[in-house]
Amino acid sequence: METVIIEAMSRDALQVQPNAPIADVMLAMSRGGHSAAVVCEKLVPIGIVTEQDALTLLTKSLAGREVRGLSARDVMTSPVFTLSQDRPLDEVVQVLRKRHFRRIPVVDEDGRLVGIVSQTELVATYNMALESQSTMLAATVEDRTRELREANARLEALTLHDPLTQVENRRAMEIVMGQSHRVALRYGDHYSIAIIDIDDFKPYNDHYGHLQGDDALRKVARALQSGLRRSDRLFRYGGEEFAVLLPQTRLEGAATAADRLRLLVEDLQIEHELGTHQVLTVSCGVAEVGRFGPFPEHWSEIISQADQALYEAKRRGRNRVSVAAEGQADVPDIESD
Ligand code: GH3
Ligand code: MG
Ligand code: MG
Repeated sequence: METVIIEAMSRDALQVQPNAPIADVMLAMSRGGHSAAVVCEKLVPIGIVTEQDALTLLTKSLAGREVRGLSARDVMTSPVFTLSQDRPLDEVVQVLRKRHFRRIPVVDEDGRLVGIVSQTELVATYNMALESQSTMLAATVEDRTRELREANARLEALTLHDPLTQVENRRAMEIVMGQSHRVALRYGDHYSIAIIDIDDFKPYNDHYGHLQGDDALRKVARALQSGLRRSDRLFRYGGEEFAVLLPQTRLEGAATAADRLRLLVEDLQIEHELGTHQVLTVSCGVAEVGRFGPFPEHWSEIISQADQALYEAKRRGRNRVSVAAEGQADVPDIESD
């Protein structure tokens, strides 16, 4: 928005009558700290007496010239240049610069004096405008930065988390697995993977409906998360499949952890009339990297071993944990009910 003169002017203009004795005018100027007196007739400026005029007068007086009988009218510069209060401030700047004025009386629409603008006020106004602009700019930059940060966080959450269960998604899993595998390969570390699959979930959906299926998925995810250490990572691997990465964990420890998770889901006691066990259960396949044979080049190798173990758990009756075994031909079953 454009600044207009009225916002920058001083309302404290000294107004004097044309017939006011010049000595009184000067006294008023010096007492009020005014650098000029605007000479008005019926409130309309007709001339101006400035500090410069006062100085000239003083010089004359010192030179022995009679000045006492003079009035404002005799001394003032006339006619006086005025500006209307609703003109843009830029106009003042231009006039001050072009005509070498130090100050300009400001008038209303009827030409009556309402104030005065001087270089001093202009500088103060411009400084204030600059200051508020830079404050606004700083606030805007801060706002934009915060919005960007929030948008980034949302985007990241969106792309790395599964919206239904809030656990990390397949994409996150690929990133994390890639890193973990590289570290393990380099330092000869161990890690294990558990693939967890909800048993008879298709009949669950068919029987209870997809919405209730979603709800069950959320509950299972929450139960799984609650049974894990902070250092373990849970991912939604597929539709009703989860994967757990257990860093620095051998097969035996991973199987125990997986069985704890299996039990946590069973303990939810989510009714499943058509399920093998009448409640919602999970089966689980566990494998350890490099346990049998050489350390694989790619992490997908251990996933497929865990997958095969999972298949065995299903085959053996579900709601159980199977661990990958050498050659995968005879996968041991650590839990049966
Ligand atoms: P199994 O015990 O052998 O695992 O049998 P299953 O029925 O669980 O296996 P299947 O792979 O045949 O079915 C998986 C079902 O999981 C099918 C699909 O409708 C359901 N499912 C996958 N993702 C979602 C989901 O996001 N929400 C819901 N409600 N169901 C899902
Ligand atoms: Mg499945
Ligand atoms: Mg299933």
